Amino acid sequence: MQQPIWGIDLGGTKIEGAIIPSLDHITPLLRKRVETGSNLGYEHILTQLKKLVDDMKQESGLVPTAIGIGTPGAEEPTTGLMKNCNSTALIGKPFKKDIEALLQIPVTIANDANCFALAETHWGVVKQRYPQSRMTFGIIMGTGVGGGIVIEGKVWNGHHGIGGEWGHNFLDESGGRCYCGKIGCVESVLSGPALEKFYSGLTGNALKLPEIVAAYEKGNDAAANQTMDRLSHFFGKAVAVITNLLDPDIIVVGGGVGNIDLIYDKGVKSLAGFIFNPLVNVPIVKPALGDSAGVFGAAALVA
Ligand SMILES: [Zn+2]
Repeated sequence: MQQPIWGIDLGGTKIEGAIIPSLDHITPLLRKRVETGSNLGYEHILTQLKKLVDDMKQESGLVPTAIGIGTPGAEEPTTGLMKNCNSTALIGKPFKKDIEALLQIPVTIANDANCFALAETHWGVVKQRYPQSRMTFGIIMGTGVGGGIVIEGKVWNGHHGIGGEWGHNFLDESGGRCYCGKIGCVESVLSGPALEKFYSGLTGNALKLPEIVAAYEKGNDAAANQTMDRLSHFFGKAVAVITNLLDPDIIVVGGGVGNIDLIYDKGVKSLAGFIFNPLVNVPIVKPALGDSAGVFGAAALVA
């Protein structure tokens, strides 16, 4: 019998764990979560993770031989220290080394966008509808913008550990300064907060993205139209870089902004104007797993 696979999704507010029978099964044997308590610091996060694994062992009667962990940010391959984390307690810490010492088993880590791409490849929309795909590009467009590359079922981390970090490609100066220090990143144009900022810059009204989308759909708000035009125009321009460079077999778009229908028609039309090909043939689709993607993708790291 195959060994069940263990995955943990380390989020800013909760840590979720799951034990999944194998890549061929979608129903976990066990699922469990604890509070992250990020504000209590790095040591506390490690303690919570250990507690979660201990609880899972006790409840399942199983013992893991390895665990995959989805983290915010990435590990710098040369130093083993965490970087680019929006949960800042992890930045600069040797997270993998510390958690391996605590759990006494090998740990494989990957960022949330990589886990998303992996999960959708092995269990989600790719497996269900496009099983012939050999390369998946997974995009998360929400509060932040991230991406992950999965080739033949495995994450491509890259030389610096930033493979797929498309959210911090240069897109347009009008996005202004990004938290990463650069100007005009994809994230500073296409994230939810960036679109909200654009809208409030036009109107002085601080609407939330779903309200802007609703106003656009009603059709009587010129600023909402402009904001959605900006989204579709720049979505195409940004995704053209992915298709010209990697030409993936499928692009899966998750996150709150990924949920906006217009990117799948107007956004794809915009893409057609930017790629080095007469037409857009690559499927650009919504994910199938919802919130479960993080923990499933983490488990796939050790499958
Ligand atoms: Zn940036």
